[in-house]
Amino acid sequence: MSNETILETEDLTKEFSGFVAVNGVGLRVARGTIHALIGPNGAGKTTCFNLLTKFLSPSRGRIVFKGRDITALPPAEVARLGLVRSFQISAVFPHLTVLENVRIALQRRRGGSFDFWRSKRVLDALNDRALALITDVGLAQFAHATAAELPPGYPYGLRFAVPQAEMPVYLPWLMRQVRDLGGEIVTRRVTALSELFEAGVDALVNCPGLGARELVGDRSVYPVRGQIVRVTNPGITMSVRDEFHPDGRAYVHPRSGDCVLGGTLDEDEWDTKPDPGTAEAIIARCTEIVPALADAKVIEHLAGLRPGRPEVRLESNAPAGGGPRIVHNYGHGGAGITLSWGCAEQATRILRAGET
Ligand SMILES: Cc1cc2nc3c(=O)[nH]c(=O)nc-3n(C[C@H](O)[C@H](O)[C@H](O)COP(=O)(O)OP(=O)(O)OC[C@H]3O[C@@H](n4cnc5c(N)ncnc54)[C@H](O)[C@@H]3O)c2cc1C
Repeated sequence: MSNETILETEDLTKEFSGFVAVNGVGLRVARGTIHALIGPNGAGKTTCFNLLTKFLSPSRGRIVFKGRDITALPPAEVARLGLVRSFQISAVFPHLTVLENVRIALQRRRGGSFDFWRSKRVLDALNDRALALITDVGLAQFAHATAAELPPGYPYGLRFAVPQAEMPVYLPWLMRQVRDLGGEIVTRRVTALSELFEAGVDALVNCPGLGARELVGDRSVYPVRGQIVRVTNPGITMSVRDEFHPDGRAYVHPRSGDCVLGGTLDEDEWDTKPDPGTAEAIIARCTEIVPALADAKVIEHLAGLRPGRPEVRLESNAPAGGGPRIVHNYGHGGAGITLSWGCAEQATRILRAGET
């Protein structure tokens, strides 16, 4: 294993009474990188994580972490080496305060596990650090509430840094990229793809979103209505989402010139007129999760339609009657921006593979 590799597996395999859940996985994770394991339900991802963190013992194979063979180590020892796992549903201690819950994670630094004979006041030394972490995620006012007293959704949270594309900035930038690379942008409504089979067109990538219903007769495409409210930004710098808010999802995305509050997900709803009652409810629950929004002023109400489909269509059509090669690329629902670069690369690969 090179110094650049922090975690490596060889032939990692788990069998349950003849059923092979993980088969011969060879994984190599480079130090300082984020490595994603992607696969459909039942592919064995969770079993693989259970093997890496030793919640399960492999039937075969080897796991090496920081140059050390950890295949035979118990989970606690693996965690002490620094290989830890976060769970989808986190278990907190409901009758300890928020501060005490966070302090438990910090207690590990004191080393050892049992010192019953010492006063619990020795833990106070960790309070400043615990409070700093709690303040950092905007929960300082709840530090002394027990986890059981927190509003729904609070005992479980994830905080992470991701790029955020501001569409009013990003779309013009993409247009400039196309033009700078010599592309020409023509806006025109078509009723059939054949209208585009002009001389010189040798490949066509079809990205009509919801328009696929009419343009290529794909009735599996359906609208997923989303309503949002644009408000002034009262100084918020961190996005906050509550996917489990009892009154519906709530998200607050601060941008450079405003703040986007959402939202709704209404399948098979075509109406793009914002509904005042829905807007009021969005503002109320967003203000509940980010109280600073009480000072924000509404700029605009908006409703849009996400192009839903049971699955993204990303495939080529054999050209019928000598037309250009066509790659269909639509039906990305509420993740079209996130998926755009990967899908564009795949569309290019499909076109290149078909080249003669
Ligand atoms: C409220 C809301 C929030 C969202 N949030 C996110 C998010 O956080 N992250 C994310 O990744 N995605 C998000 N999305 C989804 C994202 O906007 C879509 O997935 C994305 O826009 C789909 O891109 P597309 O190019 O496939 O389709 P579209 O953006 O719908 O573009 C299709 C284009 O094809 C044109 N067209 C269709 N038919 C014809 C025709 N016959 N002739 C000529 N032109 C035609 C249309 O006019 C349109 O311009 C959100 C959507 C909404 C509504």
